[in-house]
Amino acid sequence: SRVLLTGANGFIGSHILEHLLNQGFSVRAIIRSESKAKQVLADFPNKGTQLDFGIVPDITAPGAFDDVVKSSPPFDTIIHSASPFLYRVISDNREFLDPAIKGTLEVLKSVKAHAPTVKRVVITSSCAAVVNFGAPPDAPKKIYTEDDWNPTTWESALVGTQNNAYQASKKFAEKSAWDFVEKEKPNFDLVTLTPPMVYGPLRHSVKSVKELNQSNSRIYGLFVDSKKDAELPPNGMHVYTDVRDLAEAHIKAVAVPEASGQRFIICAGQISSQQISDMLRKDIPELGERTPEGTPGGNPLPENAYECSSAKAEKVLGLKFHRKEETFVKLAKQLLEIEKKE
Ligand code: NDP
Repeated sequence: SRVLLTGANGFIGSHILEHLLNQGFSVRAIIRSESKAKQVLADFPNKGTQLDFGIVPDITAPGAFDDVVKSSPPFDTIIHSASPFLYRVISDNREFLDPAIKGTLEVLKSVKAHAPTVKRVVITSSCAAVVNFGAPPDAPKKIYTEDDWNPTTWESALVGTQNNAYQASKKFAEKSAWDFVEKEKPNFDLVTLTPPMVYGPLRHSVKSVKELNQSNSRIYGLFVDSKKDAELPPNGMHVYTDVRDLAEAHIKAVAVPEASGQRFIICAGQISSQQISDMLRKDIPELGERTPEGTPGGNPLPENAYECSSAKAEKVLGLKFHRKEETFVKLAKQLLEIEKKE
């Protein structure tokens, strides 16, 4: 079975690529430049027969994907994971919104027009498209499901913070995809996955901690590159998933017929800053003087802290989740290794 994967060089994309290759899929990886293709190939040596590349320098250009969706043998499935999430490279909210929304629509348009064999498109959306981040801190506890959409408006997306713009980019990109399928009635069906914060070991090469993706750079900055007596970081978005489980969810989304036309929350559960600190301090002696100590065993999340339910993904996709130690301790150890390379 043949799959086209966008964003294949990213944190999540490289794990999806690994799962696809291990399961025997033939994959065309879409990246932005020749040098990025070389890097992916270097990260997956001996997979050259299963892996080829398509270069799309600008995913917002009309017809951007027209050429790369054509293939012999033809594609059965498309996984679209590319979308801007790296705050440090973005100077205008439009740089989140345009590639997310137009990029998604360009993929769908090209597939409809030029890849009639494609039966399914899987999109990496986000719980950023699900959660109401403006809910008051004393709001009653909410358990989010696939029926929920972040209420953010286009106006606030344009003028708000980078968080607003990113959250809006994921919401409007995913909505555009559902609208496209409803209006255009293409040959393919759509599956969307909405993970919250995604953490865990890196599969792609990262030469320096300065190159880390958005979510893992948060763990590095707040929990690894800090001090024992620093203030405990705020809980931030306190729901997370392991990147390996998210990659597996993509494979299931490709393979499970009942996933057709469905949206799935992919969430391992809640995590507090204190829990992250406690895990790292317990298992990694090197972090004893570096990870904020807080109040070990204390500082739980507030009683009313929201949850994102993965009940549907567990039932329909048969998804299981790593234990939290396997996510955070493994990541932090790897971050220390990357730091040493510098
Ligand atoms: P990375 O930054 O590691 O990867 C992002 C990928 O998207 C890269 O392949 C990148 O290509 C590509 N990309 C980014 N901006 C553009 C652009 N303007 N035009 C074309 N391609 C672009 O991030 P993640 O792996 O974390 O994110 C992958 C997906 O997962 C995204 O859709 C993101 O929204 C979603 N997600 C991530 C979460 C997380 O916590 N990490 C949580 C929930 C969802 P290049 O290397 O060329 O920039």
